[in-house]
Amino acid sequence: MTIGIIGGGLGGLASACTLAARGHKVILFEKNDWLGGKAAVLEEEGFRFDMGPTILTMPRVLERIFGEAGRDLHQELDLRRLDPQWRCFYDDGSVLDLRDDPRKAAEEIGRLSPADRAGFERFMEVASRLSDVSDRFFFWKSVEDLRDTMDLKGSMNLSTLSDVMALRMHRTVAGQIKRDVKDHRVAQMLEHFIQYVGSSPLASPAVLCGIAQMQQGEGVWYPMGGTRAVPKALAQLAESLGVEVRTGTGVSKIEVDKGRARAIVTDTGERVACERIVSNMDSVRTYDELVGGDEGRAFAKSRKREAACSGVVLYLGLDRAYEHLAHHNFVFSRDPEEEFAAIYDKGEPAPDPTAYVAAPARTEPGVAPEGGEALYVLVHTPYLRPHHDWKTMLPGYRDVIMEKLKRTAGMEDIEERIVVERSLTPQDIHERYRVLNGAIYGLASHGKVMGAFKPGNRSRQVEGLYLAGGSAHPGPGMPMALMSGWIAADTLDQDAGGAAHGRADVAAE
Ligand SMILES: Cc1cc2nc3c(=O)[nH]c(=O)nc-3n(C[C@H](O)[C@H](O)[C@H](O)COP(=O)(O)OP(=O)(O)OC[C@H]3O[C@@H](n4cnc5c(N)ncnc54)[C@H](O)[C@@H]3O)c2cc1C
Repeated sequence: MTIGIIGGGLGGLASACTLAARGHKVILFEKNDWLGGKAAVLEEEGFRFDMGPTILTMPRVLERIFGEAGRDLHQELDLRRLDPQWRCFYDDGSVLDLRDDPRKAAEEIGRLSPADRAGFERFMEVASRLSDVSDRFFFWKSVEDLRDTMDLKGSMNLSTLSDVMALRMHRTVAGQIKRDVKDHRVAQMLEHFIQYVGSSPLASPAVLCGIAQMQQGEGVWYPMGGTRAVPKALAQLAESLGVEVRTGTGVSKIEVDKGRARAIVTDTGERVACERIVSNMDSVRTYDELVGGDEGRAFAKSRKREAACSGVVLYLGLDRAYEHLAHHNFVFSRDPEEEFAAIYDKGEPAPDPTAYVAAPARTEPGVAPEGGEALYVLVHTPYLRPHHDWKTMLPGYRDVIMEKLKRTAGMEDIEERIVVERSLTPQDIHERYRVLNGAIYGLASHGKVMGAFKPGNRSRQVEGLYLAGGSAHPGPGMPMALMSGWIAADTLDQDAGGAAHGRADVAAE
């Protein structure tokens, strides 16, 4: 039995490794000439930049994927736990470190706003409960809606009822934070956890506050060699497990016959028969462009789906370092409501944005020539609208970003320090990774009840088709896209009867 995988992003690679480790024959098709998708690298004049993801959380997901092949992640990757997790710069000149140790984090917050020390601890208790509920009902299995999370009729008892209540389905992320903390700066920091899924805290369900616990409880990690080291290690694992990798090969069609996926057709017209297919391409575009027909229309009708935010990234090679920066920094906007309204309601770049700044030389000096800095600056922007032309918008917005860094993060002389400058715009993201309207993080998580739900990993429209990646369950970001790949593979493997070498847990069922 041949399994075809469309796309070699983190989700596609995780699926390929899991399936191959379980004895399946896997062919992976990737349109670009590198593996890892958004987790790409840029090297210029002695500077090395991770181009996409820079913050790695929840390494246990990677541990599980490497564990499928009997490998120890920590033998494959040199992971360093970072403290502080983030350094926050505010418009009023104050600075707050989000420390790795939750007790120290509460102490720092108490120094900035004494009343919020207890409020932060209260918030983290809620986040911890929500993370636990997510772990038990939401993660590691294919989920598309509430029905899939728990058997509401069959097993409703007091404990599941209390879990359902814990989900706080009547509340948004911002609403939950407002109940617990009072200082606007602490609230702004906590609201930014939801930026990991490119959505507005004012419209996303409170259950996503669990993301804060996934970071505070499990740490922020840096793989030496950059986040690029993650797909590199996965690609090596896939190769060692016998996955056939075809880079530079786009897929233009999934052949469906009588409701079942039968084959992959490449951009050059080659037909490759596959018993089952995993698509790591954006889920909406998979149904629209590769599946089409009745099944494609049925998916489009099943629910209205909106892209998550996009972003502009500046890669700046500096001839001098900024020692006051931590590895990960947030340079916050003057007014989060103005910022979120621009990005998520008006669909326009924020006039005074939050800039995320990575300075990986703090942990790995070799990313820049001696004494220099390989600075990565990401500003979230709306997903692409028809009138957005980033070729003309970028120069002006670059200046807005530079002004922000000078004014709020003490980098007054940044322009004089630049020796290398490159950029990535929403249009570039759209074209490089074939995503939905330039989205960085797949689909938006908006809606108090359904916001957390993405298309399930086992297609409800096409038998034998599975979805993996940031626009499928459980959602975007490195750990979730990797978990998505694992779930797609595990679901496929179970549907196929527990794989060639018969997993013990499936055999026992
Ligand atoms: C600028 C930026 C910053 C980010 N920062 C972070 C961060 O700090 N932390 C974090 O956790 N996450 C971050 N993310 C999000 C994270 O990178 C993504 O959620 C994750 O990498 C998505 O993985 P994926 O599996 O969905 O695949 P993608 O990376 O989207 O890859 C999909 C692959 O499929 C290929 N493909 C698509 N269609 C076809 C086709 N028809 N035929 C063949 N190949 C095809 C594409 O070329 C691509 O290689 C960031 C993303 C960006 C862009």
